Amino acid sequence: MPVDGIDYQAQLEALLEQIRAKGVRDARVLEAIRQTPRHLFVPESHRHYAYIDHALPIGEGQTISQPSLVAQMTQLLELQGDENVLEIGTGSGYQTAILRRLCTRLTTIERFPRLALQAYRNLQQLDLPPITFVIGDGTCGFPPYAPYDRILVTAGAPPKVPQPLLDQLSPNGGKLLLPVGSRQYQVLTRITKHGQRIRSKTFGECVFVPLVGKYGWKPDEVDGWHTL
Ligand code: SAM
Repeated sequence: MPVDGIDYQAQLEALLEQIRAKGVRDARVLEAIRQTPRHLFVPESHRHYAYIDHALPIGEGQTISQPSLVAQMTQLLELQGDENVLEIGTGSGYQTAILRRLCTRLTTIERFPRLALQAYRNLQQLDLPPITFVIGDGTCGFPPYAPYDRILVTAGAPPKVPQPLLDQLSPNGGKLLLPVGSRQYQVLTRITKHGQRIRSKTFGECVFVPLVGKYGWKPDEVDGWHTL
């Protein structure tokens, strides 16, 4: 059904084709994306581009991530549906909405209050189960609901992975997915924890805005704007 003369549904189906072509085959992930209208998470000025496979500005120098990357990262979490999940970097709330359809409990942290509030409003438009919103430094995790079966970081972490996130990861096969590297580019990394044993696997290069915080990049280490 076209909205303001734009057939978002047709554009979404075309985007899903591109996402499949990039190797995302998990039917639950694809369905979660189909159920999540990206144009609701994009500022009005950029709404026409909502279904292009590209990151877009959302304010505060931050971005809503590229949809195919959101899909790939969600697939790499290997969610079964019964997980307690922590997301760091709420941004627009788009990835949050997709995650919420695929797990039992979701906590999301954003350092910019204005983005957190806008994400809350965006997510109110969808019929989703409750989500815990936290405004603060996600590099410290969120101990009240730990341990987490999955932790997803949607901003680029420095080479030393934030220790609180490793500590708050479930020792029963918990998975932490995050971009790790320099401020300019990172490698998508999945860390799995069994007991105190940590295993790490990488999935190619990516470019994210920096993870800024006590266990991330310091604000004065971040120069200029970074976009996806
Ligand atoms: N996944 C989001 C979406 O779909 O819109 C996009 C996330 S954006 C690429 C990264 C977000 O991480 C930004 O909103 C940024 O403010 C946030 N961020 C960076 N460092 C953070 C920290 N220490 N704690 C919480 N959020 C942080």
